[in-house]
Amino acid sequence: MPDKVQRVKGVNDILPVEARQWQVLEAVIQKVMNRYAYGEIRPPIFEKTELFARGVGEDTDIVSKEMYSFSDLGGSSLTLRPELTAGVVRSYIQNNLQQISPVQKLWYEGPMFRQERPQKGRYRQFWQFGAEAIGSPNPEQDVEMIALFYAILKELGITDSVTLKINSVGDTESRTAYRSALQDYLKPHLSELSETSQARFESNPLRILDSKAPQDKELVKDAPKIRECLNEASANHYDQVLSMLKDLKIPYTQDDLLVRGLDYYTHTIFEFTSDALGAQDAICGGGRYNDLVKELGGNDVPAIGWASGIERLLLVVEAIKPMNTDPVLDLYLVVLGDELRIKAPQLVRDWRDQGLSCDADALRRSMKAQMREANRQGARFVAILGEDEFSQGVVQLKNFESGEQETVAFDQVAKTVLNSLSERSEES
Ligand code: AMP
Repeated sequence: MPDKVQRVKGVNDILPVEARQWQVLEAVIQKVMNRYAYGEIRPPIFEKTELFARGVGEDTDIVSKEMYSFSDLGGSSLTLRPELTAGVVRSYIQNNLQQISPVQKLWYEGPMFRQERPQKGRYRQFWQFGAEAIGSPNPEQDVEMIALFYAILKELGITDSVTLKINSVGDTESRTAYRSALQDYLKPHLSELSETSQARFESNPLRILDSKAPQDKELVKDAPKIRECLNEASANHYDQVLSMLKDLKIPYTQDDLLVRGLDYYTHTIFEFTSDALGAQDAICGGGRYNDLVKELGGNDVPAIGWASGIERLLLVVEAIKPMNTDPVLDLYLVVLGDELRIKAPQLVRDWRDQGLSCDADALRRSMKAQMREANRQGARFVAILGEDEFSQGVVQLKNFESGEQETVAFDQVAKTVLNSLSERSEES
């Protein structure tokens, strides 16, 4: 026997039972995005490598070690997107979206690719949905962004097991001041830092704050806080964000060590984590990126966004408030006698055309096996068709729940089932 081909390490097959959970989540996402007046954008899955090098930052883990990059036949270096902010901004600039409206509120969903070490909640192909608001520099936009994700959590019924951590890295002036203050504090201890943090001391000292190495954690405990280095404008911006979050009754925790992995953030940064998850507990991360549009060749336009991992969000949902994903089918056609089998396709096609979810056996199985299959598929009704019924143009329509059975003409089946189902949903 030929070898079976296995899937690539760190990627998942999303099978029909799970896909039903995805569909419920996707419906929630679409509904909330509509309510908040965000329009969907679908950029390509691969982009020029240069976009991520410039847009995410050469020094980040993503760009320095996690990208799936390849040369195409023309010799261009391309990369499977590891995140979508850079792609959305590229698209915003290239398509002149600024001309359509001075604030562009966009959302997306799709697979991302990072060559990370796989573990529970961390994959090499994973899905994110996210939102970007490009155009407003004001704190009310920051708050709307956070409220948007919070609304999705609320719809899913999981706000209680989620924590919002927030911090501000301020504008460029504040960040530069903080960078020096942090370097001054760390310099005497440079040799005590982990190797990675030593390497980051010059290139990106803020990242030392979120290092996982125990010796770094110990040192940064007493480091100066970025909040203390914010200039007046940055401090004001941050205060207003916090005060509006209070007005909206969105609970938060200030986290002085939150810096987030990407280089492009300014002002507000935030992360939602869940205690229902293990080590990979972040379900959403984002922040303001006022310089990115300009750095990618656009105008000087401020922006803010976040991204959330679908697999992780579903792990939280499963742990806290599992969805009912039992299969449901309106009607299953049970055919008795092989001569009648060829009549099945037309009957079910007509009922499907009239709006029923409907299925029939294609294995020519016994009546008992067909009934079992109807049950497995969660059929609410079965239509039984034997020789006598066929000659009269009727079926025996059986309500699986109540056990009631009646004789119904072919062209009345869909109507009868739909009426009964709508009565039932009105009752419940
Ligand atoms: P990031 O773009 O790194 O800020 O990630 C945003 C969100 O995407 C995280 O909060 C996670 O929920 C999710 N995420 C990031 N990396 C992975 C991964 N390798 N596997 C699964 N989910 C991920």
